[in-house]
Amino acid sequence: MRNVSIRKVNTVKIGPVKYKIERQPPPIHEREEALGLCDYLNGSVVVDNRLQNDVEATTIMHEALHALYWHAGVKKHEEKVIEVISGMLIRFIQDNPKLIDAIQKLK
Ligand SMILES: [Zn+2]
Repeated sequence: MRNVSIRKVNTVKIGPVKYKIERQPPPIHEREEALGLCDYLNGSVVVDNRLQNDVEATTIMHEALHALYWHAGVKKHEEKVIEVISGMLIRFIQDNPKLIDAIQKLK
């Protein structure tokens, strides 16, 4: 599982749904500055194909958090909360590989 490039991650499981990750040229969204979007009905996360790896990872995490809330029944949630949590969660996962491995083994 180690040394997997973010570019080779093509799916993300969110609740009961396996979302496809699609990398596309901009614009991704009618809001032209958006780096990604989550299509709950189509089961896809779309990201701008020009992003650096760390920005792409954060963008996928951001969109995944939207979907996690959505599948939990919280259809309306604050953008600001997603923005704050996505960056913190990436850092937390990076800073705690032993914990993440141990949690994986509980599955
Ligand atoms: Zn968002």
